[in-house]
This record gives sequence, C-alpha cells and structure tokens, in this order.
Amino acid sequence: MRRWVGIMEAQERTRFGYATAKIAEVRQENYRVKTFVLDCGVEARPGQFAMVWIPGMDEKPMCIVNDDPLTFSVAKVGPFSSKLHGLGAGDKISFRAPLGNSFAIPTGAKKIILVGGGYGVAALHFLARVAKGKGVEPVMVVGARKRDDVIFEGDFAKLGVKTVVATDDGSGGVKGTAIDAVRQLLDAGEKFDCAYACGPEMMMHALAAVAQKEDMACQLSLERFMGCGIGICGKCDAGGGLVCQGGPVYNSRAAFKLEEFGICHRDTMGNKIRW
Ligand SMILES: Cc1cc2nc3c(=O)[nH]c(=O)nc-3n(C[C@H](O)[C@H](O)[C@H](O)COP(=O)(O)OP(=O)(O)OC[C@H]3O[C@@H](n4cnc5c(N)ncnc54)[C@H](O)[C@@H]3O)c2cc1C
Repeated sequence: MRRWVGIMEAQERTRFGYATAKIAEVRQENYRVKTFVLDCGVEARPGQFAMVWIPGMDEKPMCIVNDDPLTFSVAKVGPFSSKLHGLGAGDKISFRAPLGNSFAIPTGAKKIILVGGGYGVAALHFLARVAKGKGVEPVMVVGARKRDDVIFEGDFAKLGVKTVVATDDGSGGVKGTAIDAVRQLLDAGEKFDCAYACGPEMMMHALAAVAQKEDMACQLSLERFMGCGIGICGKCDAGGGLVCQGGPVYNSRAAFKLEEFGICHRDTMGNKIRW
C-alpha cells in the first residue's frame, strides 16, 4: 500500500522538515534521463517542484512529474544528478514538497500548446494530464538536439495528445528548433489560448517573444540555482525576484521584467553566467 503524504502534512514538513520515501520504480527514459517513482504521494499542481535531498551531499530542486505517486525525471549532468542516478528501487529519498507556484489554465481555454526541452518534457506531461481532465486539448512540442534526446513521446501518445517532435539535426521529427515547430503550427492556422514551456531558458525566451507577437498568453517555468527553495537564501535571484518565491512559473510579461531572463543565470557563488 502506497503511503499518502497529505497536503497539510506536506506543508508542515515544508516548513519544519523532510518527508522520506522509498523509490518504488526507476525507468530509463534515454541515455541521460531516468524517472524515479516513489512509494508515496503528495498533493501538488503541475509546475510545482520538490527539494530533493541526498543526506551528506546536497539538496536540489526537481519538477514534480506526477504527484501520486510522487515522480521526478532527472537528467544526469553533474554530481547530484549522478548520485541520484545511482539509486534504485528500495533506496530511500528525502524531499520537501510541494514548493513554488504552478501553471494555470485560463477559464474557458479550449486548446493550449506545451513546449518542452530535456526533462522539461516530463514535467509538462503532468500539465497535459490535468488539461485533458478539464476537457482542454493540449498539443505538445518536444524540442531536442537529436532523436536520442527525446523523452516521453510514447507517454503523450498514450494520453492521446498530438505531439510534434523537432530536432536540431533532423534525426527525428521536424528539422529545427521547438520554436520553429511552434511557428509552423501557428502559420498553419492553429490557435491556442495559452502557451506553456519548461526547458532551456533561451527556448522559453524565444517562445515568450512569439507569444507576445501573437498576443497569446504564455507561462514559463524558470530555473535558477536554488539553495533553500523557500525564499531564505536568496540564491535564485533572477534580477528583481527570487524564482522559488515568485515562480518557478512566470507569465511572459513578468518574466521579461526580470533583469536576467534570457540573459544570464548564476553559479553557486552568485557569479553571473551568460546563457
Ligand atoms: C525549479 C527547478 C526545477 C528543476 N527540475 C529539474 C528536473 O525535473 N530534473 C532535473 O534533472 N533537473 C531539474 N532541475 C535542475 C537540478 O536542480 C540540478 O541543477 C541538476 O540536477 C544539476 O545538478 P548536479 O549537481 O547534478 O550538476 P551541477 O554541478 O549543478 O551541473 C553540472 C553542469 O551541468 C549543467 N546543467 C545543470 N542542469 C542541466 C541540465 N538540465 N541540462 C544540461 N546541463 C545542465 C550546469 O550548468 C553545469 O555546467 C531543476 C531546477 C530548478 C530550479
């Protein structure tokens, strides 16, 4: 029987401590992304994140891919993510969740477009499921460098979501960027009530520009180095706002007001690094 970490309990834990759960299942999505399914659930909304803690090592934010059972998809890029990739079914993981704000589906919306890159594609699957449940039709655009980088295509197909893949080298789907694919859909006369994105910041910046031109609502899940996830350490300042407090989801107008959106992010020491 799966353990339920209820919303009140999760909020208490967010302020005062951590929940610990066992990994029930690990799925290899591609050569660098693994999905971890825990043996517990939290009550969360698409766009929210968890601070995942490996005792003795570090604590890092991860998008919630599913809230029950609690699920994360992790790209192996450095020490923390490599350590996570080394864990298997039965190993324990600690976390604080849910944190941050979430994507919102505008009242009356009929059709929305979701644009993802990397593990951001997995995070948007949660939004697609919720949209379908509300009778809203999502169209998914997956951007990747090459065919091998594409994840969750089958999961979106199972959900009955039209999915367009775009690869930089043309090894899968449309040749070009995710934004080229979005422009093709718009040029073909498709209309969307809102665009959503999770993935590389320059992709989200380009989508925000398209949305502004098309007068289309747009929500983006921003990513910055985070220390605490609850507005104390100040490490995730994006130039005028802490991402863990004001986000991670911003509408495009609010994102453009952040001085560092589409320009730079910061390393662990706070030094600016250009995208
Ligand atoms: C709100 C939020 C949600 C997040 N959700 C997820 C998630 O669902 N899944 C996930 O895997 N990560 C997610 N991250 C990123 C994650 O928290 C870590 O930054 C990441 O796991 C890298 O940590 P590391 O110690 O392994 O590598 P680091 O030493 O921090 O990074 C190693 C190198 O990889 C680069 N890098 C960092 N992340 C990526 C990336 N995704 N793709 C390519 N290069 C990268 C760094 O710039 C650095 O050069 C999220 C971050 C935020 C702020």
